[in-house]
Amino acid sequence: MKAVRFHHFGGPELLRYEDAPKPTSGLDEVLVRVEACALNHLDLWIAKGIPAYPLQLPHIPGCDVSGVIASVGEQVSERAIGDRVFIAPGLSCFRCEKCLSGSDHLCESYQIIGAGSDGGYAEFIKVPARNVLPMPKGLSFEAAAAFPLTFLTAWHMLISRAALRPGEDLLVLAGGSGVGSAAIQIGKLAGARVFATARGPEKLELARRMGADVLIDHNEDDFSKVVARLTAGRGVDVVFEHVGPATFSKSLRSLAIQGRLITCGATTGPTTELDLRYLFSRELTLMGAKMGTRAELLQVAALVGEGRLSPVIDAVFPLSEARAAQEKMQSRSFFGKILLKP
Ligand code: ZN
Repeated sequence: MKAVRFHHFGGPELLRYEDAPKPTSGLDEVLVRVEACALNHLDLWIAKGIPAYPLQLPHIPGCDVSGVIASVGEQVSERAIGDRVFIAPGLSCFRCEKCLSGSDHLCESYQIIGAGSDGGYAEFIKVPARNVLPMPKGLSFEAAAAFPLTFLTAWHMLISRAALRPGEDLLVLAGGSGVGSAAIQIGKLAGARVFATARGPEKLELARRMGADVLIDHNEDDFSKVVARLTAGRGVDVVFEHVGPATFSKSLRSLAIQGRLITCGATTGPTTELDLRYLFSRELTLMGAKMGTRAELLQVAALVGEGRLSPVIDAVFPLSEARAAQEKMQSRSFFGKILLKP
């Protein structure tokens, strides 16, 4: 089969579109003919060779995948050849204490497809049968590949962790990113007033179309001052962070007394300063989040199927142009998801 692999750690220039062995499904696995695979920043991180993701090379990235089942293992009864499916990106054992308590995203052997195993930058992908889920009705393959990772992460952060409530104020950082645009939509669905930052008029306009009530141009304004002005000095109840040191202090300053900051990423670096006086005197809460549970993914899929949440697709590249697709993601000149299509 054709696949995109890297043989050495580095940047997008090392991706090779080439022939790779077609996987065969094991007893409890299925083989999926890939129809669409969405890019994520994770693809860039793992290609750099970070210790959190020890990989065997060559490696096929890609964790957000939709397609059609091409073969099923002998022990698989609940799925059949020809089923239209999307793939749950998390690999969990469903036997350990965390899995059995419903936190399967914290499984002791947790892996992400495309990072812990070969992913969807290929014509075919092999996954455990329990990782394929029926595609929401009426959804395109592109949309079905575009939503799982970002919407699952944003849902877990805002609904399960930060417990966002109707009437609260939410600030979404980088509302033009995949996870940011998901957070804007989920914030509106939860009944919050949504403030969103983005760089430049195009991304701001798209953030507005996602439903953001208040738009802040990150190029021009100190967003914490805008938030203070528009909330009469009160601040917002929840800040949705995933940027890191470049924004973290301002994010903290944007919080109301007893506000919650939830973060899932650090695109500008791993460490940041924290003014402890601010944290305790205002009774702030800092929370982390990583992916989300299988149950949450089913909730999100149902909402996407009903059209109440809509993944945004920026561009679709042929699989052979994976390098150009990743370079577009690196350039940050995009809004929503970038997809590959074999
Ligand atoms: Zn487990």
